[in-house]
Amino acid sequence: MTKILIVEDDELVRDNIFDLLEAEGFEVMAAENGQQGLDLAIATTPDLILCDVVMPQLSGYEVLAAIRKNPLTAATPFILLTAKTAKEDFRMGMKLGAEDFLTKPCSRAELVAVIDTQLEKRQILQDTYTRQLQETQDQLNYLIYHDSLTQLPNRMSLQDRFSKIQRHAPQLKPGLSIPVYVLCLERLNRISDNFGYEYADLLLQQAAQRLKQEQGEQTYIAYVSFNQFVILSNRESQRQGAIARAEDILTFLQKPFVLNGQEAYVTASIGIALYPHNGDTLDILLNNAKAALNYAHTQGGNQYQFFTPTFSSNKTDTLAFEKSFRLALEQEEFQVYYQPRISLTTGKIIGAEALLRWFQPGAESVSPSQFIPLAEETGTIVSLGEWVLRTAARQAKLWMNQTQTPFYMAVNLSGRQFVRSDLSRNLAKILSEAELESRFLDLELTENILVKNPFVARQKLLALKSLGVNIAIDDFGTGYSSLAYLQQFPFDILKIDRCFIRNIASQEKNAAIVTAILQMAHNLQLKVIAEGVETINELEFLQDHPCDEIQGFLFSRPLPAHEFSKFLEQKGEVNFLGQ
Ligand code: C2E
Ligand code: CA
Ligand code: CA
Repeated sequence: MTKILIVEDDELVRDNIFDLLEAEGFEVMAAENGQQGLDLAIATTPDLILCDVVMPQLSGYEVLAAIRKNPLTAATPFILLTAKTAKEDFRMGMKLGAEDFLTKPCSRAELVAVIDTQLEKRQILQDTYTRQLQETQDQLNYLIYHDSLTQLPNRMSLQDRFSKIQRHAPQLKPGLSIPVYVLCLERLNRISDNFGYEYADLLLQQAAQRLKQEQGEQTYIAYVSFNQFVILSNRESQRQGAIARAEDILTFLQKPFVLNGQEAYVTASIGIALYPHNGDTLDILLNNAKAALNYAHTQGGNQYQFFTPTFSSNKTDTLAFEKSFRLALEQEEFQVYYQPRISLTTGKIIGAEALLRWFQPGAESVSPSQFIPLAEETGTIVSLGEWVLRTAARQAKLWMNQTQTPFYMAVNLSGRQFVRSDLSRNLAKILSEAELESRFLDLELTENILVKNPFVARQKLLALKSLGVNIAIDDFGTGYSSLAYLQQFPFDILKIDRCFIRNIASQEKNAAIVTAILQMAHNLQLKVIAEGVETINELEFLQDHPCDEIQGFLFSRPLPAHEFSKFLEQKGEVNFLGQ
């Protein structure tokens, strides 16, 4: 309730005003002299003071002067009650800071009007003041908590957010973690060298914008130091989820930026540390994510890397692998082997699948299922895979020239290769250098590569297909997605995984599955290849149902190129089905 203080020595006037104001609904206090009024004002900080001018001891002016001096009451509206209407009185009162005057005796209406005006004024002042204070505080907060270049939250706010997340997620289910991504743009130095610092700044600003737009509400994006973005999700996720997000980010940052009307392309790398597995404080997590980021750089950039303890403590393992891997590439310890593909329509060899082999000196050959996951993890698969593509494309051309018949070459593509933005470009180059028509190249992908980020995958596949190559879904049936789901991806070939072909003739369940797959695939106009055909019974089943192509030890194991050439020479015209 609005509090009004009356200071008036004339009892009659005082009581009269008291009653009037009380009837108006104010909380009213009264003092019968100046000193008492002053004490009461300071003790109760009323919203408005009505004060007589002429009083014994302390006059109204003196009360007013003292009221204005005290910070508690300095802004309280003060209305002088006066019997005189002399000009000097007004001037004196105004000089001391009175808001208004009332000449006694005054009517109820006069009184209420003056009081209302003053209270209103006071309210407006107070509101303005509060708003300004709030604005200043907000500005200050913003400055303290944001980076001035990108306008993103800074290191300090990141810490706040992280603590909040930590409080809300004290116990994460096994397999779940909260990923912390550290991202930096690559070639930024080159951009500022070529175009100036403003360009680099602009680029950082636009990258910040894009990260914010693409990542949505659930994600916190901070800029913690020059060219270092931190992305923090407040939801826990599985490793797969973290991978998908990292790939997603890399992909959308590859879209061109427009800087002062000019298009600029950048790549980024990301280091990922998982909370709580890789650290339980933000400092540790950021350090570890940065270690992973550095590693991503040494791998050529434009990629993500998860932190592994080897980055910090013993780097030797992965590094040793790395080293032997690079050496192996140089010293040609890798070879591409080729497994013939037999057409069930003609019974003849119509192509091959390229399969990688690693022969370390003095050791048995290492199986691709052993080293490919490591190569994937370290990123080396990218250069290795490119080498396989180039080798296989050239080889296909040679064999096509040798036999003068079409020859379809299938090459396995790893997820890491698939997400690269330069895949289509490189592929086009490889094909043209090998002078191989694109329709003779089949790219084999497993469904897990596609379902991680279906939207991006679809776009990528369309881009690849526009080159004219064929897309095959490899290991079909071993994943978790249905054909109905996979249908959204534009592929041409379906490869039924070996595990369904095994004992197909005797195992009812496998037979039923394969029959169903064949039917569905043919309805969708897909070519079907069965892999891992080892027995005559399996072959016969597939001929009956029918399947388009087969691969397997029944006809040939994967062979080195020269042996495959001989095989072609001898059996190129042979009908393997003996019809
Ligand atoms: P995949 O693509 O499913 O390749 C088929 C695998 O089945 C090959 O194993 C092949 O040797 C084997 N195979 C073929 N016929 C038969 C058969 O009748 N019986 C049995 N038991 N196995 C048969 P390999 O060569 O050890 O390759 C294993 C996997 O490594 C491949 O599986 C593929 O996922 C990957 N891989 C191989 N080369 C490359 C490559 O150049 N790039 C990538 N990204 N992955 C590759
Ligand atoms: Ca394959
Ligand atoms: Ca396969």
